[in-house]
Amino acid sequence: MTKALTLAFALCLGLMVSASNAAASDKIRVLVMDNLPGVSLDFPPEFNVKGLFGIGEKEPDGQGGVRMLLSANSCPGGGVRINTDGVVINVNRYKLTGVIEIKKNRKGLFRIINELGLEDYTRAVVGEEMGANWPLEALKAQAVLARTYAMYSEQNRCATHDYDLCATVKSQMFGGDAVEKEGPALAAKETEGEILTYDGAPIDAVYHSTCGGMTEDAYDVWGRKYPYLVSRECRYCADSPYSKWKRRIKISVLDDSLRRAGYTIEGLRAIQVLERSRSMRIKTLRIIGESGSVVMKGTDFRKAVGYSAIPSTAFEAHRDGDSFVFIGRGSGHGVGMCQYGARGMALAGKNYREILEYYYPGATLTKLPEGPK
Ligand SMILES: [Zn+2]
Repeated sequence: MTKALTLAFALCLGLMVSASNAAASDKIRVLVMDNLPGVSLDFPPEFNVKGLFGIGEKEPDGQGGVRMLLSANSCPGGGVRINTDGVVINVNRYKLTGVIEIKKNRKGLFRIINELGLEDYTRAVVGEEMGANWPLEALKAQAVLARTYAMYSEQNRCATHDYDLCATVKSQMFGGDAVEKEGPALAAKETEGEILTYDGAPIDAVYHSTCGGMTEDAYDVWGRKYPYLVSRECRYCADSPYSKWKRRIKISVLDDSLRRAGYTIEGLRAIQVLERSRSMRIKTLRIIGESGSVVMKGTDFRKAVGYSAIPSTAFEAHRDGDSFVFIGRGSGHGVGMCQYGARGMALAGKNYREILEYYYPGATLTKLPEGPK
């Protein structure tokens, strides 16, 4: 284990906490937005704003409700905690329920944290992560993963953070609980309280869009072994728009991206693949330019050039005039469940238990205890 990793582990609370410490009634804290110079809150007419006087400028929102604007000079130092009592409140572009915390961060800018129940959170994530009209068994597999990921993050949260998860692809996509969609809501209900565990603890339930034929071993991406995050063949994601892809990127654009990431080789001439993993994703490559060459990890190359510019590290690259052409398979890191693969398996008649067993071999489907309400 590296020094940095040891330190990261030491900073984290509750590593190896067993699933018995978790409960279905747990609250999840999601960092929805950060570094905002101002906040706009829209309260519908049925919400009583009396308790919120003095924290910001108020004006009618034109629809019978109240709009409150918070700027750098408003909002008390300790922040505000608004219990929505089930009413939907618009906070900038998010529609939120549960408890909304508005605080200032160290830079004096606003940070919004939404605290909500595990099931409400699960429903919201499934709606964002998968098409609402995807087959129910795929949505159910996603619901179990969304819930597991939240429990894992809550239990392994670093002491320096006062939230469990972010609202972006860094954690799981979250658009606010109020975005109700029928399929995801049913998927969450039919799997209520279910998570995946290994040795009694929630697993690190990572997943990705499309593997392109074979999922990746976690060790080949993050250098850590997990018994349940191993490479699996996947014959079910051929329908994905990312099953196969081709990108042409100008050398000048690649040079700029690499320079911004700290690799100054000036005038990219060649990309040499040095090592691939069993799933044919690039582990290391060499970039050769006018002023030298650099050996780097495939994941670092993708990060430098841009995650959407290069959808995965399973690619071949060749030079063509003033550009490089990348031909590849899959989208995302490739570890854990392939979401399009889950869709394909569901369409082929597999249920969510079979889907999860396939992508997380050895993990156990566990029902969380009810816990205190
Ligand atoms: Zn796949």
